[in-house]
Amino acid sequence: MAEHKRNPDDCIWKNFTNLLHEPHIFKSHLNYYNALTGWVKKYYNEIGNDLVQRNGLDAILNIDFEKYLSKESEISLKLEQKRIFTRKPETLDALLMIINNTIWDMIRLYSEKDCPICDGELYYVIFEKLNTKQRDIGLECCLCWWHEYINKPKECDEMASVHPVSRTDLELFGVKSQK
Ligand SMILES: [Zn+2]
Repeated sequence: MAEHKRNPDDCIWKNFTNLLHEPHIFKSHLNYYNALTGWVKKYYNEIGNDLVQRNGLDAILNIDFEKYLSKESEISLKLEQKRIFTRKPETLDALLMIINNTIWDMIRLYSEKDCPICDGELYYVIFEKLNTKQRDIGLECCLCWWHEYINKPKECDEMASVHPVSRTDLELFGVKSQK
């Protein structure tokens, strides 16, 4: 069976739902972030480096969350229990994707621009080149694969890892956010 089709075994899923027993998990976005990332870190060996990286989780596991929390977080903590803890996903990969999307939904900073391909909203990201580790700011589409640099010729076609952007990063790269 392909690695990413692996089922989340009952033990891993039970341990994930056990997060609900922690009293303060939904008290703040920070608590929720710590609970989700804490779980991934605890089961990192069982989950495996490949799946963590495939889902882009390594870029957001150890951020200074409060610097990144969006004022317009798309996550309503009241609805989270029902949204992600009641139905076991078919694969471990899917569970990690849900966790990744959930964290991004708390920290994503949208730009004012729309995607030239599909009109989806573009949000800020940092591209870090895999070979030189050089970081530059760019935009990524919330719906399709489109991504581009802001301060350089349009398309970004080099191999790079994608990281979230804090308000401090926006200032650092001289980007004026309207939001
Ligand atoms: Zn798009």
